[in-house]
Amino acid sequence: MKRSMKLRTKILLLFSLFALLILGLLWIFQVALFGQLFEGVRVMEGRAVIRRIEAALESQGTEALSESIQDAAFEKAACVSVYEIVNTVATRVADIHANENCRIHDIANMSELLHRLYIAAESDGGIAVERVAVSSFGSPPTDNRPSDTAFCARLLSLENGKDYLILANVEVYPSVATVAALREQLIWISAVIAVIAVAMAFLISGSLARPIAKLNQGAAQLAKGNYGADFSAPGYRETEELGNTLTLAAEELSRTEALRRELIANVSHDLRTPLTMIGGYAEIMRDIPGEVTAENLQIIVNETHRLSSLVNDLLDVSRLLSGTEVMQPTRFDLGTLAGEAGAHFRDLLSKNGYTIHVDAPEGVWVRGDRKRLQQVLYNLIGNAVNYTGEDKQVSIRLTAGDGIARFSVTDTGAGIPAEDLPKIWERYYKVDKVHKRAAVGTGLGLSIVKSVLDAHNAKFGVSSDLGEGSCFWFELPLA
Ligand code: ADP
Repeated sequence: MKRSMKLRTKILLLFSLFALLILGLLWIFQVALFGQLFEGVRVMEGRAVIRRIEAALESQGTEALSESIQDAAFEKAACVSVYEIVNTVATRVADIHANENCRIHDIANMSELLHRLYIAAESDGGIAVERVAVSSFGSPPTDNRPSDTAFCARLLSLENGKDYLILANVEVYPSVATVAALREQLIWISAVIAVIAVAMAFLISGSLARPIAKLNQGAAQLAKGNYGADFSAPGYRETEELGNTLTLAAEELSRTEALRRELIANVSHDLRTPLTMIGGYAEIMRDIPGEVTAENLQIIVNETHRLSSLVNDLLDVSRLLSGTEVMQPTRFDLGTLAGEAGAHFRDLLSKNGYTIHVDAPEGVWVRGDRKRLQQVLYNLIGNAVNYTGEDKQVSIRLTAGDGIARFSVTDTGAGIPAEDLPKIWERYYKVDKVHKRAAVGTGLGLSIVKSVLDAHNAKFGVSSDLGEGSCFWFELPLA
């Protein structure tokens, strides 16, 4: 079988992948896209400078323009020239040199560039931006002088009828020092992210794996039969819930195990009694002359019958509880069946002082497995007889109405505590473990009743008052 990856390894892998993704994005932005981002920002700054110059021009004209726009230019490291245009001739009226790699001030073919920008701005709402390769200026790029530069231009017509062209030149490349600093920073950030990712992966996987490993240990203990295994796994709601569920399962298993042992003890006792009788009587007849009497033989026959009916009951129990038994429904009179069952118990028990009241009119037809429902009646009546009070009264009642047949059997016994009511239908469950053993006495009677009635989709239940007695009932549709 292919073994799955360990939780720790998987989380480590996922975190590494996540860290790699973040680092990849960082490198893409810093290395591949940084130039474009930087250029965009620089062009925006150049245009911001132009807007301030524009405002100065509008408010004060060219008078002392250079002084009033100096701050703006130096702040953004932009070289600025302002030209007045008269009859397509441009005359420089203000000038600031604030970009150390400036091109405005050493450009050979300035008039040609000016002309291009003028035309572009004129056709594009007064604004033009042009990125120019430095090599086109005649001086080749060096390490310290980047290869491209950008010009922002603004064509402006003032109310006094004068036309101006404002030109700002900004560097679109970060300086070599800036780039180096960023690289260095990026390497450090990458290292820190990698370390943090690995540390986080170890921490998280550790804290996740710990409760799971603990639950696993507990489950292994449980598998070995240690029902008291510790399933506390604090830290996460899911693991806590799983722990609680496993604790419940362990309790359930230990209870079933205890009940199973009890059942085996009961059954072996029930089997041994007739066997001892048979063995004893057979030996007497063999060893003592004249003991081979019809009475002694009858005892052996009776005990053999008891044995075989006990074995049959046990077989029934196992078949019904394993769910392999298929119901064989027929239409029959539940009234007759209840009357017969009542008569059977009355015949058996009246000499012991029991009073069995039967109120079961004939002609209550239902559909179901007659043999299994008879077993249900016998189990319910048998329980009522076994658990009824000192007055030894048991009432059997059958009613029919609204398309429903309702059978109930009431005793006057001690009743069943409310907290035990839901459990009595479970296998092997006994409220009072030291109570005199029931006819079957295995704690299986009611679970057989439940299996049979469930198979008939019948409603059933019990109402019980402590000290007053209990009433077991079930309902079947009339047929
Ligand atoms: P048992 O063989 O022990 O009677 P059952 O499955 O028939 O097993 O019943 C389960 C338990 O339910 C009994 O041990 C008893 O504690 C309780 N019980 C069943 N019927 C009655 C009743 N009529 N009155 C009081 N307790 C009852």
